[in-house]
Amino acid sequence: MRSQNPRRLLIGGNWKMNLLSRQARDYCQAFVSGWEGFSTEVVLFVSSPLLPAVAESLASGPIGLGGQDLHPESKGAFTGDVSGPQLADAGCSWVLCGHSERRRDHGESDRLVGRKAAAAVSNSLTPLICVGETEEERERQETFSVLKRQLETALESRPEPFALAYEPVWAIGTGRSATPEMAQQAHQHLRETLADLLGDEAAATKRILYGGSANPENAAALISQPDIDGFLVGGASLDPERFLAMIRCCG
Ligand code: PEP
Repeated sequence: MRSQNPRRLLIGGNWKMNLLSRQARDYCQAFVSGWEGFSTEVVLFVSSPLLPAVAESLASGPIGLGGQDLHPESKGAFTGDVSGPQLADAGCSWVLCGHSERRRDHGESDRLVGRKAAAAVSNSLTPLICVGETEEERERQETFSVLKRQLETALESRPEPFALAYEPVWAIGTGRSATPEMAQQAHQHLRETLADLLGDEAAATKRILYGGSANPENAAALISQPDIDGFLVGGASLDPERFLAMIRCCG
């Protein structure tokens, strides 16, 4: 467990398009009974049809609820989309913006991600803004420039509050996590970029999570890095025991 970090650690579980409501309820029951009064902030990001079951199972507990995406408009003719007011109404206080699977599968641009982050804060949702380079971009040594571009555009409307997740695309769901050193370099670059955009004080308080095949086996080494403030976890968050083990690592 790390005690040096001045920021409260944050862990998000991204269930992606998994689980049915019965399974979600069972998960929450196991998760809540394994909860040990952690000081880390924990949020479950679940697909929209599961929100009522999860909200009810987590009611008035310490675990937060988040949506996985939102439309930049608050209502209208947008079949299949979900709005910020709808997420807030379902009990969410967080939402993912710009997850790489949305960027890849739904063609989300940096600008759209920025509009979504703005829509989130105007509906009292904290956006967890995801950024990260593809394998080709890393090979072309473009990692830092890609992260800077994604971050600058996402923050154009100056959303506040927000948190960031550095998720190298090549590490998501592949079992190939970034090494702690690679992740730290990227996080440091993101924090420096935040300082340029928002000032040193704001940059020092912003939480930057690592995501990409993070699991109970590699969590301790990753969280010992000075600019890693928690995790966004896909696969390992689907098992409540494994997810709890990662939270235990953070304290
Ligand atoms: C994610 O979906 O944000 C993620 C990091 O997935 P995984 O942990 O499975 O790589």
